Amino acid sequence: MKNSDKNKFNPAQIIQDIQFFGEFGGVNPSISDSATYTFMKAKTMLDTFEGNTDGCYLYSRHTSPSNHYLSMAMAQMENTESANVAASGMGAITPVILQLAGSGDHIVSARTIYGGTYAFLKNFVPKFNIETSFVDITDLQKVEEAIRTNTKLIYCETLSNPLLELADIEALSKIAKKYNIKLVVDNTFTPLIFTPANLGADVVIHSLTKFINGTNDTVGGVICSTTDFINTLKNVNDGASMLLGPVMDSLRSAQILKNMRTLPIRMIKHSQNAQYLAENLEKDGVKVKYPGLKSHPQHELFKKMMNPDFGFGGMITLDLKTGEMATEFMEKLQEKNVGYLAVSLGFYKTLFNAPGKGTSSEVPEEEQAKMGLSDGLIRMSIGLDFDMENTYKKMKQTLQEVGYFDKQLS
Ligand SMILES: *Cc1c(COP(=O)(O)O)cnc(C)c1O
Repeated sequence: MKNSDKNKFNPAQIIQDIQFFGEFGGVNPSISDSATYTFMKAKTMLDTFEGNTDGCYLYSRHTSPSNHYLSMAMAQMENTESANVAASGMGAITPVILQLAGSGDHIVSARTIYGGTYAFLKNFVPKFNIETSFVDITDLQKVEEAIRTNTKLIYCETLSNPLLELADIEALSKIAKKYNIKLVVDNTFTPLIFTPANLGADVVIHSLTKFINGTNDTVGGVICSTTDFINTLKNVNDGASMLLGPVMDSLRSAQILKNMRTLPIRMIKHSQNAQYLAENLEKDGVKVKYPGLKSHPQHELFKKMMNPDFGFGGMITLDLKTGEMATEFMEKLQEKNVGYLAVSLGFYKTLFNAPGKGTSSEVPEEEQAKMGLSDGLIRMSIGLDFDMENTYKKMKQTLQEVGYFDKQLS
């Protein structure tokens, strides 16, 4: 699957071409170490409050030079007009939802999404009289049927957590446009691989905590969208990002901007390693789900939607049938230093956890089984291992040790 069509959107080249110099000619932009900013004229300050001045900084909750650099870089990578970074992924997701929906409104959301987002929609926004219908996002008819006159947005993840289901962004965008509502897409699992805005998404969100930063030393988030929508979020009078205040610290945004430079080569390596592992485990008869396998139900759709060159991503799931076997397997893998038993993803080391049923209790039990959401499901974020053959051998041996292959015979 190599498509080197030069006219295709090329986010790796975009990242390489981003050039911000420091104020003293530094090869990295200087870090802004200020919460507030001076004005030469009082009038300019008033204009800035009203959002009428470009290039003037008012107060760092609104934006800072360092946050502005990272936001611009993210907007370019996601091919949107503008962007605004946030202190965490949830600090990006929650203002978007609260900006687009208010009392009496309705949201259509994918039923398998990040646990925090699910909890926010299910348990938190009802306090503001906002209702959410959770649907199978791969069933476009169900999505359309769930839309009501008071629906304000469709919410989904490009590649879903934890089941690795792919949302057909182009088709969902057509539905959203038909009903004049917004399509909001969390692209955290698949940076560079997908560019949802090119497929019609109105708002694209990332948890920068994961692949984009890649070093698991900070949380961060970003909202990428039109200049209009980003300005609405930052409005001093009624902007959810401005008023709820989930602002990223300048030091952190400077760090993430530097780490972002290596994102293209990291994504390629994550994908290569995950592809190698998934293919070999599948050959061994292990129940493995990976979008780069022909056995993945949306393998063809993935190929149709993806940007070339970055592979099928670093996330795979294994189904070990029982929760006990999954637990034993993960603890042994950690003992052998294959990876860490930890939530989160996009790290240079492999991370694994068993997401269980906690976040998808909305889905009836029998449907959970059909979806493949079993107690023994392990989600793995494959690391940047240099010798993936060695990692694969260790995993296979560990599967033998926990009796995975015995069980299959019986
Ligand atoms: C981690 C994650 C989030 C939340 O991001 P934080 O940075 O932890 O706030 C949202 N969506 C997805 C898909 C995630 O993996």
